[in-house]
Amino acid sequence: ELRKSAGQHILKNPLLVNSIVEKSCLLPTDIVLEVGPGTGNMTVKLLEKCKRVIAVELDHRLANELRKRVQDSPLSSKLQIIQGNVLKVDLPYFDVCVANLPYQISSPFVFKLLAHRPVFRSAVLMFQREFAQRLVANPGDKVYCRLSANVQLLARVQHLIKVSRNSFKPPPRVDSSVVRIEPREAPDIDLVQWDAMLRIVFLRKNKTLGSIFKTKPVLEALEKNLLLRNSLKDTVSTLEKHSSSEIKAKVLAVLSGISKLETRPRSLGVQEFIALLREFSKHDFHFS
Ligand code: SAM
Repeated sequence: ELRKSAGQHILKNPLLVNSIVEKSCLLPTDIVLEVGPGTGNMTVKLLEKCKRVIAVELDHRLANELRKRVQDSPLSSKLQIIQGNVLKVDLPYFDVCVANLPYQISSPFVFKLLAHRPVFRSAVLMFQREFAQRLVANPGDKVYCRLSANVQLLARVQHLIKVSRNSFKPPPRVDSSVVRIEPREAPDIDLVQWDAMLRIVFLRKNKTLGSIFKTKPVLEALEKNLLLRNSLKDTVSTLEKHSSSEIKAKVLAVLSGISKLETRPRSLGVQEFIALLREFSKHDFHFS
């Protein structure tokens, strides 16, 4: 009996399993991390194509079932099973990740992968269609959001396959998509600052930057960080003595200097957000 709470919808369409394995572009030398192997329909095919599969499965009954399924095959020596919650275990080294997880943990799982070191080559992942669309959305697209920018900062993302709910047993209530994520070289920015800035601008992604940075809570936060940093540095900046309205004028001057007063966050891509962050920091404005 499958547990719906653990997202246990088993992929039963063998053509789909084949195409996911194919899109993973495995080399015979690869170590594959498979997350949520379930009954192992994909695992047996992965084992044929790579050096080793490390499977992380939460449900001990399924982990045992998988172990039994490959037990008497020559492939069994290539399989290592970790029974546990993928969000909690220390991930081992891997070259490629293949995963089909319950959709509630999509976001924390993606960010755990992207924080993993050493960096892997690629990940081929099944998600709910809407989540996949947000991952690959371009600036200006309706579903472009903070998630899109955060993931695209750290990786190239590509939509690979549309998957109907009927490819699963039992069928889930939503359609799915398979995407490929390839980590890119980490940009030379402060990720805490990046995150704090994106939280601010994506709260009102359809407003202009000029109007967002004119609001009181945003200005107060910038002012507070400015004072805090200056007191840490133990220097008295000229800005420190400025009034709130002068801070506002200065922030708007920064935006105006790069012709971004009328720009809306929904239309900005990763490189433009990086430039914005650098410009603010050059003028001593920080987001945390
Ligand atoms: N990939 C299998 C297939 O297509 O046949 C089954 C996929 S099913 C959608 C999700 C699988 O992830 C289940 O086997 C479930 O037990 C497992 N799972 C759920 N939460 C997990 C977690 N936090 N860590 C590891 N595995 C998990």
